[in-house]
Amino acid sequence: ARTNYAIANWKMNKTFSEMAVYLQELKSKEGVSVVICPPSQLLYPAGLMAKQQGSTVSIGAQNVHEADKGAYTGEVSASMLKDIGCAYVIIGHSERRQYFNENDQQVNQKIKQAIKEGLTPIICIGETIEQKNSGQTEKVLTTQLVGALQDIDSDFILAYEPVWAIGTGESATAEQAQSTHAYIRKVLTALLGGRAEGISILYGGSVNDKNAAEFSQMPDIDGVLVGGASLNAESFEKIIAVF
Ligand code: 13P
Repeated sequence: ARTNYAIANWKMNKTFSEMAVYLQELKSKEGVSVVICPPSQLLYPAGLMAKQQGSTVSIGAQNVHEADKGAYTGEVSASMLKDIGCAYVIIGHSERRQYFNENDQQVNQKIKQAIKEGLTPIICIGETIEQKNSGQTEKVLTTQLVGALQDIDSDFILAYEPVWAIGTGESATAEQAQSTHAYIRKVLTALLGGRAEGISILYGGSVNDKNAAEFSQMPDIDGVLVGGASLNAESFEKIIAVF
């Protein structure tokens, strides 16, 4: 059986004190791996607090630079993330691709860097509304997967996040997501063989405490990557509860 994940992507939200209150409130659950991805200035204190509370929650970063170290003002390396207790890192989020021009080759390099330092990458793929409407979804996802997974033979988590569903309140239906996830698993099988069966594929895009249960029932949906609804501990806990 594959691991189920409930992953909170806080994006550029929350102060130190908001984070502290949230972690005190949040209860994790057996049978689901919970990962909180706060903005980078909170990674270290969030990890410390979770540890002090004896919580099973893991901490993940929202981005990483593809180089080992050096003159890259404003950037953070994979070894730095590992050093402060991160276990996971989101790579290739559509907001990174859209606003920071990240391409598949960069995504691939970031994944390699994360794996080299012992971080588990949470690789994001997804089509835009224009791509969806012009029937290109499968082609786009295949290109993103092939690009991202070049020479990758370690474990990773995949997140399917249709760009049109992110922050719009308009999630994919559970059936839509399931059929896309099944397609993604088919591509993964072509690329990785039998290993594809063990890879958790998460859905992301307007997941909330009302629709999460439907996603959880689908055979190829192994968890969720949650933005807006993860900012409230109570809502996120309800989402965790259905997996
Ligand atoms: P929302 O849950 O706010 O739609 O964001 C999804 C997302 O981008 C998670 O990475």
